[in-house]
Amino acid sequence: MFDWLRERRRRRLVEDHPIPDDRWATILDRNPLLDRLADTELDHLRHMATVFARERFFEPGGEMVIDDLVRETIATLACLPVLHLGLDWLDALRTVIVYPGEFTPEIEEMDEAGVVHVRRETRSGEAWHGGPMVLSWEDVAASGPLDGYNPVVHEIAHVLDGRNGHVNGFPPLPQGIDSARWTRDFEAAWDHLDRLERTGVPDEDLPLDPYALEAPEEFFAVATECFFERPDHLQAVFPEVYRQLQAFYRGPVALHA
Ligand SMILES: [Zn+2]
Repeated sequence: MFDWLRERRRRRLVEDHPIPDDRWATILDRNPLLDRLADTELDHLRHMATVFARERFFEPGGEMVIDDLVRETIATLACLPVLHLGLDWLDALRTVIVYPGEFTPEIEEMDEAGVVHVRRETRSGEAWHGGPMVLSWEDVAASGPLDGYNPVVHEIAHVLDGRNGHVNGFPPLPQGIDSARWTRDFEAAWDHLDRLERTGVPDEDLPLDPYALEAPEEFFAVATECFFERPDHLQAVFPEVYRQLQAFYRGPVALHA
């Protein structure tokens, strides 16, 4: 579609069907990570979330009933990472499937002999490039406390990561970010976390959720969750990763102070 037409339609959406004041207040109240945003950022986020909530197809999984609050909460959290990058970064994400709780998709894997095995694994969220984002509402609703856990932000990190065709912890980097330095900083943090985990440091004492060590893309997603949920903590434990993510996400602006 022509960009100007899309922009005009989006402007009309924001003018005619904005997230109403009462629901926006509820969303802010339940998601204290939004407290860090400047007023102008919050206005912008509300506009983006209005567009996302109306343009994306929300599909219930299981017995889920998707109401406006569910749709707009997920839209707000999905737009937070792209607040300064722009909604275009989420163009590949057309569908959001929401289950009431954890879900167990069938996962197909090919072994070394080329035989495909199907297994089931319980999950609270998943996303892959060009596919839907799948979420557990119970987990989204539980992501209020600023503990570094935020399944929507996590899955959106995977969507951004895959924008260059590969989900590997290396998203398309905006101008001004040196790719060699990005790799070096993330590898150093990975090695540090890996060392601590191997020496038997309990999970709760590790600087980052050890799920980050599952794969480079998980490290990027878990670090992104921490960046938006506990930026002070991330800055203290992995200052280089924090700096890279700040350069990548370009905000919240208050964090630049
Ligand atoms: Zn993940």
